[in-house]
Amino acid sequence: MKKNIIIIGSGLSGPLLSTILSKNSDLQISVFERSSDPRKINKFSGRSINLALSRRGIEALKYAGVYDKHFESLLIPMHGRSIHSIDGEITFQPYGNKDEHYINSVSRLEINKALMSYAEKMGNVDIKFDMQCKQIDLLNKKLHIQNQTIDIDCPVIGADGYRSIVSKNISEITNTELDYVNIEHSYKELTIGPKNGEYQLDPNSLHIWPRRDMMMIALPNLDYSFTCTLFMKSSGKNSFEDINDNQKLYTFFEQNFNDTIPLIENLENDFFENPTGKLIGLRVPIWTCEDKGLSIGDAAHATVPFYGQGMNASFEDCHIFGQMYREKFSGNWAALFSEFYHSRKKDADALLDLSLDNYRVMRNDVLDEKHIKKQKLSFQLNNDFPDYFIPLYTMVSFTTIPYATALERGYIQDKILDELINVNDIYDKQKSEKLIFKYLTPIGNI
Ligand SMILES: Cc1cc2nc3c(=O)[nH]c(=O)nc-3n(C[C@H](O)[C@H](O)[C@H](O)COP(=O)(O)OP(=O)(O)OC[C@H]3O[C@@H](n4cnc5c(N)ncnc54)[C@H](O)[C@@H]3O)c2cc1C
Repeated sequence: MKKNIIIIGSGLSGPLLSTILSKNSDLQISVFERSSDPRKINKFSGRSINLALSRRGIEALKYAGVYDKHFESLLIPMHGRSIHSIDGEITFQPYGNKDEHYINSVSRLEINKALMSYAEKMGNVDIKFDMQCKQIDLLNKKLHIQNQTIDIDCPVIGADGYRSIVSKNISEITNTELDYVNIEHSYKELTIGPKNGEYQLDPNSLHIWPRRDMMMIALPNLDYSFTCTLFMKSSGKNSFEDINDNQKLYTFFEQNFNDTIPLIENLENDFFENPTGKLIGLRVPIWTCEDKGLSIGDAAHATVPFYGQGMNASFEDCHIFGQMYREKFSGNWAALFSEFYHSRKKDADALLDLSLDNYRVMRNDVLDEKHIKKQKLSFQLNNDFPDYFIPLYTMVSFTTIPYATALERGYIQDKILDELINVNDIYDKQKSEKLIFKYLTPIGNI
């Protein structure tokens, strides 16, 4: 007889997890999604329009067997950051020191649609749309869905995002508090359309307008447009609340993002009509409830978007959980859930710390000479000591080194860089070797 599983949420992690688990033919997977099927209504109400996909996400997609030619055709490689200075000058900072060190811009809608179709093709995955799960009671095995309450006779996995009802119920059961990390900045999306059927900026980089206490970024789309995301304070001077008429909007843009005014055709409309999104991080203390429930993806660990890793980490969850199921499951769901949670929790916490820190790097540090020098030196050290020194951004985006290890080593490496960086730009290989061998253990050039 088949073993049933319920997954709540068919966003990014729900359908990928379904596809991975469906390879086990003894499983029958039901997915409940509150929204309508985006392949049928052609309207999407999710968050950000496009996302950066990197190594961890790609490894998970490959493991699921969905990283095929169609999937690759959805991706636009971005090899580094194009930094737009306040007077319109553009400089390029590469993401890494190897050709394969690039991230990929991808449409959230397209990736979501593709993942749903792959999942449904498996035969033992049934996605039920327009099914909002209003409440769950894991201990008493009840799920309140639409207007009815159903009895649950199987494990439930919450892939229902940062407002997860599964995580909420687990926190009630375990008497723990969901720790929402609110930062005082919000975001808004604006569009740079195509001009004469062409991109108006280089499509193979992630564009940043760093302005110390705020920033704008732009990622390319396949239709020759860019989606810009403006991050700044929610209230106070120079904030979303503060800019409340056209005159203030144009004065603000002239002062801060002047080169984008001719590029963003519908600036007023985009700014005043598009929603202002909140930036939310979430630490969920406990992700499991016996053999009854587990939270995964943003439901377990939402992060702020500054490392472009929320989706990648969620996909990595699916990959790791799928591997554990395949290699270790012996009928004991509680043991599997617990092992997954214990193996993953510290990495989820580390990712939030890394992401919060990278906001400062993107809006501020990229402008500083010292940061640029340290970045160049870190590439040099990686070339000379590849088994020991891997730049932090590389560890996070281009390897599968656990986030907690990346955070820890990144901290040590930063101290080494601080000690090595000197005014006359002369690279001291001997001193570097001494410090690296003293403070770092080999990790391999993964
Ligand atoms: C502005 C912004 C930019 C980002 N950029 C990046 C990036 O560049 N790279 C990256 O890796 N990550 C990025 N992220 C993070 C990424 O969006 C999330 O980490 C990712 O969406 C998590 O996937 P998920 O499936 O866990 O949750 P979600 O994608 O939120 O999916 C949850 C699903 O559950 C459904 N649902 C929720 N509640 C219920 C319910 N009660 N009943 C039924 N269904 C329900 C929702 O409708 C949704 O379909 C960004 C996030 C933001 C906000």
